[in-house]
Amino acid sequence: MNIVIFGAPGCGKGTQSEKLMDRYGFYHISTGELLREHIAKGTELGKIADSYISQGHLIPDELMLSIIDVLLDSPEVKGKNIIFDGFPRTVNQAKEIEKLLERRGDKIDAVIGLEVPDELLVDRMLKRGQETGRADDNIDTIKERLDVYHTQTQPLMEFYKGKGTYRPIDGSKAIEEIAESIFSHIDSIAEA
Ligand code: AMP
Repeated sequence: MNIVIFGAPGCGKGTQSEKLMDRYGFYHISTGELLREHIAKGTELGKIADSYISQGHLIPDELMLSIIDVLLDSPEVKGKNIIFDGFPRTVNQAKEIEKLLERRGDKIDAVIGLEVPDELLVDRMLKRGQETGRADDNIDTIKERLDVYHTQTQPLMEFYKGKGTYRPIDGSKAIEEIAESIFSHIDSIAEA
């Protein structure tokens, strides 16, 4: 089973992905984390990614997709159930990942949408910025990231609703309560 955990920056995708990994042993692909690791190591990819991430912009689709394409064939990912966290982020990425998975006889089974009002997202990201020092969790970049989310990523909701895979979850609730809602949805799919 492959799952997309979907939602605006600060909606709790990383936190809930960890819950899902603990419970079901999914392999977690967080594109944001992966890019931040490259930035920390100072790789060529990291340098390119940083120029977009620091502005609150998305890195180009072709670059993102080529990273995912390679990752899907890596020994640590091959044959595993995957949680995609922070990917896809554009309708184009969603269409392309469908093709990449199809080529491997696979698909996305469920899209969990963590729905959280913008005001709460801003509060959470500012808090995370203070706690972790994450560079793009500053007010100017947060505003840009939310803008990018609404214009480029949110249309994916309709895309996945059209496919019947989108499941909205109230992401403003307590962490454990959200996790329970996600678990029961995944269990119901697994039983079907
Ligand atoms: P995240 O940790 O998921 O909030 O991602 C942090 C930043 O990494 C984003 O603001 C983007 O600049 C970049 N990024 C992460 N995932 C993607 C993606 N799927 N497509 C393009 N850019 C991405």
